[in-house]
Amino acid sequence: AAFDKIYHIEELMSDYDPNSMLSKVNQNAFQEPVPVNTELFEVLAVSKSYSALSDGAFDITIGPIVQLWRKAKEDGMAPSADALKKAQDNVGYQSLILNPEKQTVQFAKKGMLLDLGGIAKGYAIDKAIQVLKAARVKGAMVDIGGDLRCFGAPANGVKHWLIGLQDPTNKGNVLLTLKMDDMAVATSGDYQRYVMVEDKKHSHIIDPATADSADNLSSVTLIAPTAMSADALATAVSVIGNEKGLELINAIENTEAILIS
Ligand code: AMP
Ligand code: MG
Repeated sequence: AAFDKIYHIEELMSDYDPNSMLSKVNQNAFQEPVPVNTELFEVLAVSKSYSALSDGAFDITIGPIVQLWRKAKEDGMAPSADALKKAQDNVGYQSLILNPEKQTVQFAKKGMLLDLGGIAKGYAIDKAIQVLKAARVKGAMVDIGGDLRCFGAPANGVKHWLIGLQDPTNKGNVLLTLKMDDMAVATSGDYQRYVMVEDKKHSHIIDPATADSADNLSSVTLIAPTAMSADALATAVSVIGNEKGLELINAIENTEAILIS
């Protein structure tokens, strides 16, 4: 049941699948308000609140710029400054219009594209955990590509979940081990997913303010009560950087971060 939930959310929110509900939004939301289901609406609304909280560093309207960098990877050539500028004009969470009564989404600008890559994994993890808790499972860990959440205790009398933090410069090396009971951990970084263009590594995380890849930190690990907040904040802090990123995290209760420059 937990896996079913995860696949269901992927079907809704993938921007690679042209038939997903998110893709329907991307195709039609400039012409007319597009009705979405409760799950997608929830993720869009929460995403907007993280945009406000992070002063625009986290922004799911980043799609047009992400597309350019994906194409750059195929072409082996960085996007032109002109193309980036044009794409940047269509980025901005303020232009994402959500109607909670009608549960619809509309774009204020033509050419807008949503990308939930920075938050949907966390949401899927939380939903899978919810399914497991409802089934009265005593303890579980749900891990999607290194983002995870756990509760209860592991099997065989082990007291806590142990989570190793990988050294971004040396995959085999575990930098430290976190001892977890009922928490989520998400890591954003340039060491696992990046775009290699013209012999330069570019993070897949984009700073909406510059349209360039966010390469300040090589790894950002967030520890938070929900996987969705850990996921969104890890992406946000990757953009914001060291000093201001820690300021933001210190202002949020029950949330900690480990940054590696
Ligand atoms: P994560 O691995 O959770 O940090 O998510 C990275 C993914 O989020 C990227 O591959 C993009 O799909 C998307 N993304 C990139 N830049 C941003 C941003 N500034 N705000 C929100 N999502 C982003
Ligand atoms: Mg994220």
